[in-house]
Amino acid sequence: METRSDKSIILSAKSLFKTYGKGEAAVHALSDVSLDIYEGELLVILGSSGSGKSTLLNMLGGMDKPDSGSITIGGRELSKLRDRELTRYRRDDVGFVFQSFNLIAELTARENVAMTAETSKGGDIVREMLELVGLGHKLDSYPTQMSGGEQQRVSIARALAKDPRLLLCDEPTGALDYETGKQILIALEKLCREHGKTVVVVTHTQEIGRMADRVIRMRSGRIIECSVIESPVSAEIMEW
Ligand code: ADP
Ligand code: MG
Repeated sequence: METRSDKSIILSAKSLFKTYGKGEAAVHALSDVSLDIYEGELLVILGSSGSGKSTLLNMLGGMDKPDSGSITIGGRELSKLRDRELTRYRRDDVGFVFQSFNLIAELTARENVAMTAETSKGGDIVREMLELVGLGHKLDSYPTQMSGGEQQRVSIARALAKDPRLLLCDEPTGALDYETGKQILIALEKLCREHGKTVVVVTHTQEIGRMADRVIRMRSGRIIECSVIESPVSAEIMEW
């Protein structure tokens, strides 16, 4: 696997295995998956449906546990954390963006984002994050009053409000039309390139890999290729 000596590793996963079910029905969702994530990179994980992408992302986010293997971040190995520490890791260190937005319908954009904001930072950070994703004018809108793309941007703002070490996005454009999906990718790119965030995007759309610093390709629970993109294409001009 290629290495980038100019960047520091913030997460290191070693030989992850995960099998669902037993015997004949066993599904090897992950088989010997190892990867490093570099600080400030835009990493795209590509693979067709069922290749193990969500399983991997959930493990990196501490939402699921591997059968074996290790995930180390900030000098801590996730499998060695107590439940309470793992909960704190999930809550404070990783931001999740899902295909389905997962906003709370009864809360406004501001309130949805405030749920994860550090209380010490209060309302400023909520407004700041919504402005960062271009929704400064929608602070008091409810999810039903927003388009899919706007809702997804609220969910990105919500993930960012806790200032996570890692932003993990599982098919973030999967439920959106082309133009709206593009706006989301532009927003994620900006977070990485201008704000130094470490962003991981899981997708089955091959072309999205062109905007990445690195692409990891999965098939049947294995990493089959890892490549460094020397000149990433900006999401603005990328087409798929
Ligand atoms: P992807 O996100 O790339 O579509 P997943 O990680 O969701 O793939 O799934 C990988 C494989 O593991 C698939 O064959 C899927 O059916 C299986 N799988 C995922 N989660 C479960 C589960 N909770 N129980 C049983 N099988 C599962
Ligand atoms: Mg998936």
